[in-house]
Amino acid sequence: MEEETLRKYVEAGRIAAEALEFGKGLVRPGAKLLDVAEKIEAKIVMMGGMPAFPVNISFNETAAHYTPSPGDETVFNDQVVKLDVGVHVDGCVGGDTALTVDLSGKYSDLVKASEDALNAALKVVQVGTTLGQIGREIEDAIMSHGFKPVRNLSGHGIGEWDLHTGYSIPNYDNKDDTPLEDGMTIAVEPFASTGVGLIHDKGVPYIHSIIGRKPVRNIVTRQVMKKLDAYNGLPFATRWLTKDFPLFKVNFALKELNQLDILKSYPPLVERASGAFISQAEHSVYVGDKVIVMTRI
Ligand code: MN
Ligand code: MN
Repeated sequence: MEEETLRKYVEAGRIAAEALEFGKGLVRPGAKLLDVAEKIEAKIVMMGGMPAFPVNISFNETAAHYTPSPGDETVFNDQVVKLDVGVHVDGCVGGDTALTVDLSGKYSDLVKASEDALNAALKVVQVGTTLGQIGREIEDAIMSHGFKPVRNLSGHGIGEWDLHTGYSIPNYDNKDDTPLEDGMTIAVEPFASTGVGLIHDKGVPYIHSIIGRKPVRNIVTRQVMKKLDAYNGLPFATRWLTKDFPLFKVNFALKELNQLDILKSYPPLVERASGAFISQAEHSVYVGDKVIVMTRI
């Protein structure tokens, strides 16, 4: 990787780390999710980055992919909160990082399980380590706490204007013998669950991305499409669009784009076992002669 490109990844990582730390301080009972998400996203821009995806704030049995809806009135009280922040600099997605805040005071061990798993995984990350080995470290650490890793969620490669490059970093030993190669940038993100360790799509999606190009006739949809060009394929939030368009126009356009297969929407990812709790921890890493955990402060 060219030095200038690596510098952008590292800068994105640093901004994401600081934004996450800042956001962690905002997660407290009585605060609104919408305010917290918007403050974090504003902070990212202030620091010279751009959100690589909408801030995810997911509660309890939801592992990921909730972001506040337009006008969301939800407040924090006693939830297990996953805060997930993404940053790019000139398209280089060097910052995808997450942590869990346990406002209930009852799940500190669950929080520790995903943190320990992340640390164990990062200890073995270097050129030549297989993806399966990383998964085994994560699985062992989470199981040793008496919880289950979420098997159908995984870490991933991160790239330029690309949040999920072709390969997955498993959260269990899936025997994948693909080795890490010099110059790779990856996000490692263990999820620990009190449930069965499997998630499914559930609920209304407020996160979307453009996945194709096609001529669009409707004028409203075309106006919305034009706005979406700026994200260049990276995920965006419904609420980002309602700054420029009334909600009914946004919903109309999103529906049409979905029907045309131009848009993919991402519903919340929820544990299959009802009443379960999930924790998450995540860092973005550059793998080279030197391994750089870009989102570690
Ligand atoms: Mn993430
Ligand atoms: Mn990620």
